[in-house]
Amino acid sequence: MSYDSDRVANETALWHSCSVEKVLKEFATEQSGLAATEAKLRLEKYGANRLKPPKTESVITRFLLQFHNVLIYILLGAFVVTAFLGHWIDSGVILGVVIINAIIGFIQEGKAEKALNAIRRMLSLNANILREGQRMQIPAQQLVPGDIVLLRSGDKIPADLRLFSCKNLRIEEAALTGESEAVEKSIQAVEAITAIGDRFCMAYSGTLVVYGQGMGVVVATGQHTEIGRISQMIAQVDKLASPLLRQMAIFGRWLTIAILVLAASIFGYGLLLQDYPLDEIFMAAVSMAIAAIPEGLPAIMTITLALGVQNMARRNAIVRRLPAVETLGAVTVICTDKTGTLTRNEMTVQNVITAHDQLRVSGVGYVPTGGFSRDGKEIQITDYVDMLELFRAGLLCNEASLHQRDDTWIIQGDPTEGALITLAMKAELDPISEQKTLPRADVIPFESEHRFMATLHHDHAGHGLIYVKGAPEEVLAMCSYQLSQGEDHPIQLDFWRAKISATSKTGQRMLAMASRVVQAKQQTLSISDVEAGLTLLGLVGIIDPPREEAITAVQQCHAAGIHVKMITGDHCITACTIGAKLGIGDGQRAITGIELDDMDDVQLHQVVADVDIFARANPEHKLRLVTALQNNGEVVAMTGDGVNDAPALKRADIGVAMGQKGTEVAKEAAEMVLTDDNFASIAHAVEEGRTVYDNIRKTVVYIIPTSGGEAGILILAIILGMALPITPVQILWINMVTTVTLAISLSFERPESGVMSRPPHDPHASILSGFLVWRIVFVSLLMIAGSFALYFWEITQGSSVELSRTVVVNVLVMCEIVYLFNCRYLLASVFSRQGLFGNRYVLLAVGLLLLMQLLFTYWSVMQQLFGTTALDAEAWGRIIVISLILFLLIEFEKFVLRRRGIQSL
Ligand code: ATP
Repeated sequence: MSYDSDRVANETALWHSCSVEKVLKEFATEQSGLAATEAKLRLEKYGANRLKPPKTESVITRFLLQFHNVLIYILLGAFVVTAFLGHWIDSGVILGVVIINAIIGFIQEGKAEKALNAIRRMLSLNANILREGQRMQIPAQQLVPGDIVLLRSGDKIPADLRLFSCKNLRIEEAALTGESEAVEKSIQAVEAITAIGDRFCMAYSGTLVVYGQGMGVVVATGQHTEIGRISQMIAQVDKLASPLLRQMAIFGRWLTIAILVLAASIFGYGLLLQDYPLDEIFMAAVSMAIAAIPEGLPAIMTITLALGVQNMARRNAIVRRLPAVETLGAVTVICTDKTGTLTRNEMTVQNVITAHDQLRVSGVGYVPTGGFSRDGKEIQITDYVDMLELFRAGLLCNEASLHQRDDTWIIQGDPTEGALITLAMKAELDPISEQKTLPRADVIPFESEHRFMATLHHDHAGHGLIYVKGAPEEVLAMCSYQLSQGEDHPIQLDFWRAKISATSKTGQRMLAMASRVVQAKQQTLSISDVEAGLTLLGLVGIIDPPREEAITAVQQCHAAGIHVKMITGDHCITACTIGAKLGIGDGQRAITGIELDDMDDVQLHQVVADVDIFARANPEHKLRLVTALQNNGEVVAMTGDGVNDAPALKRADIGVAMGQKGTEVAKEAAEMVLTDDNFASIAHAVEEGRTVYDNIRKTVVYIIPTSGGEAGILILAIILGMALPITPVQILWINMVTTVTLAISLSFERPESGVMSRPPHDPHASILSGFLVWRIVFVSLLMIAGSFALYFWEITQGSSVELSRTVVVNVLVMCEIVYLFNCRYLLASVFSRQGLFGNRYVLLAVGLLLLMQLLFTYWSVMQQLFGTTALDAEAWGRIIVISLILFLLIEFEKFVLRRRGIQSL
C-alpha cells in the first residue's frame, strides 16, 4: 500500500493505538528506512518538516510603531502648533524630520532583526536516520513521514515518532505537557483515548531525550506534529532586549519626564519673567525638549548589540540569549571541558599494554596504516594473541564507524572510539567480518557518570561474551582476572596501576578493556552483569594533542584577568599533564571528583579559588563547582555537552554548549553555542562582549553631551533674555544628521588593543561610572561655552540672527565631529594613525556630514527651510578653532586621567 498523506494526517492522533507493524505498513516503510528516491518524492509532495514561523508584525504595523515614542508625540504636537500659528516652513520641516526618522528607525530595526534571524537559522536541528539500512545525519527539515529516526540521550525529537525500539528511553516532554519529570517510553500500543503524556510508545517533536536510546518511525512532520498544532512558534533566540537595554529604556523615560518638566518651567519663566512673545517662548520650550531628549540612544544601543551578536557568530559563538552579550564582558572564570575544547579531539592510539607486553603503535590520525614495535623493534602483531583480543574488544565495544572518502579517513561518532577502530584495522582486523562473527545482542551505552561501555555478543555456536571498555579505574574494579598468553590469571592490581600512572604522565588518555564469558541464553545486558568477575585484556594509551589556538587563548584570558579552570572526566595525571601544556594549573595539583564528594561547602569554597584542574569529575560536580564559584562572587562561564551538563549550564552565568559534539539538551540550556567546539572561541566571545559593552558606553558618552550642549545654550539664552541661538528645526537637523551618521559609526568600533589586558568589569556597576558622568558634564559645558561664545561674539559684532544661528549650528556639528574621534577611545589617546583613521565608518560619516553641512549653509533651498545664511571663511576659521580646542581639551583630560594611574573608566 502506498502512503497517503491526507488520510494519514486525519489519523495522526491515533498512531499510539496501532501496532508497530500497522504503522510501518501504513507509511509504506521498513525498519531499515525509506529508499532515498522515495524520501525525495515525499519531501517534494509533503513539504519540509518545519513549523510556520511565528506571526510577526506586518510591515505597516512595524512602520507605524516607529511613531510610538514620546519624542515623536512632542514633535507631532509641535507640528500642530506651528501649523496653527501659520509657521508653515517649520511645520513642514518638523513633519519631514518625523517621517525620515521613522524610515531610518524602520530600516535599522529591520537590519537588526535580519542579523538575528540569520543566527536563528544557524541553530537548526539535525536528525540521525536510517535510509536503505544506512545510518546518516540529515537536517531535521528534510525528514518525511515514514523515515526511521534513531534517538539517543541528549537529542531533541525532530518530528512525531511511533517508537519501535527502546533501551531505557526516557523523554522529557515539558515543551508539550508542561511536565518536567521525564517519561519512561516503551513500544506497546496504548488505548486510543489516552492523554499525550501517557502515550508511552510515542515521541513528540520538540521534546528531549534525557536518557537511553530508541528508534521510531516518523508519523507526522511540520505543522501536523502535536507541537505544530498547539503552538505557532518555538523561539530559539530572544527578542532584542537585555538588562542593559531595559535599564537604559527606564533611564530614558525618566529623563524624558524630567526634560518635559524643565521645558514647562522654561516656558513659564520666559513668558512670565522675561516677557518673551508666546509663540517664541513656546518654540523655545519645544526646542529645549527636542534638544535634550537623547532619542537616538535606544536605537543605537540595539544596533550595537545586534552587531556584537553578528560578530560573535562570525567568530563561531552563537548567542542564544542576548543578555549574554553583556554578561560575557564581565566573566571572571571560565570552566572548560578538556577533550575537544582544549584538545584537538583527534585521537590516535600510541601505546598498547597487555599483561605480557607493551607495544608502541605508529601512524597518524585515523588512517589505518601503521605498525607495532616493541622496545624500538618492529614486530608481527599476529603473533600477539592477547593484543588481538584487546583490539577486538575495542572494535566491537564501539559505536563509531570509519569511512574512507577519497584520500581521507573520516570517523562518524566518538573520536575515542574511532581511534580504536583504526588501531584494530592496523592489526588487520576487519570491522565488518568481526561484527558478523560476533554479532551484538545488547549494549550499555557510554555515559560520563559511569565512564564505561559494555556490549553483549554471541558467536555462531551461541556462546555469549561481554566486552567492556572504559576508564581504567572503573574497569579494574570490575576485574578479578587478567588475560596472559590466552589464559585467565588472577589480576595483579599494582602492576596495572603502575602502568596507568606511567602512561598518564605523558598526557595520554587511558582506556581499559575487559571481557567475560556468559551463558548462551543471555540476551540482555545490565549493570549487574559487569560489576565483577571480568578478565582484564589490557590498556590503550591515546594521544590527543592540545589545540595551539587554545594555548594562546588561555594566555589571553589570564592577561584579561579571567581564571581558566579545566573540569574533565579524564584521569587526574593525564589532566595535569595536558593542563601544564596549556598553561592551566601547575602540572601537579588537581582535585578529583571523589575528593570533591568528601568536601563540605566551606572546604569547597577555598578549593575552587586555589585549584585549576578538576579530574574524573562528572556533571554533578560541575554544578557544585559553578555554585561554589558564584558564591565566591565570580561570574562564571561553563562549557558542557551532555544531557547531565544542562543543570550546570543553566546555573552558570554563561552556559556554553558545544555545537558539534553537544547534545540538543545542552544547547537548549546554554546561553551560547560554539560552532567549532573550540576554547579559543570562548575567549573571542569574551573579547566581543567587552567590545559591545565598551561601544555602548562610548555611544552613551557621545550622545548625552550633544543633547546637553544644545539644551544648555538654549537655557542660557533664555535666562539672559536673548534671541534663541538655535531654532527647533535647526536642532532637529543637528540631531538627525549626527545620530544617523556619527553616533552609529561608534557601533562599528573594533575592540581596543587593551580590551583583553584589563580586568573584567563589575557586573553590578552602573554603565556610567563616576568618571564618565564627569566626562559628560565636562563636554556638555565645553560645548555650551564654545557655541555660546561664538554666538555672543557674532551678535555683539552686529551680525544678523540668521548668521549667528548658522554659526551656532555649524560649531555644534563640528564639535560633535571632533568629539566623535575623542570617543573612539574612552581613555587612550587618539593621536595615532589608528586613532584618527582606524574606523572607516567614522571617516565616511564625517565626510558625509561635512557635505550636508555645506548644503545646509549654502544651498538656497536649505537656507529657506532652516533659516540659514552663507558664512565667510573667517567665520569658518573661528568654528574650526573652537572645535579643535574642544578636541584638545578632552584629549588633555584623558592624559591627566592616565597620568593619575587610572586604567579604565
Ligand atoms: P571532558 O569532560 O574534558 O570532555 P573527557 O571527554 O575525557 O573529558 P568523558 O568523556 O566523561 O570525559 O570520559 C571520561 C573517561 O571515560 C575517559 O578518560 C575515558 O577513560 C573513558 N571514556 C571516554 N570515552 C569512552 C567511550 N566511548 N567508551 C568507554 N570509555 C570512554
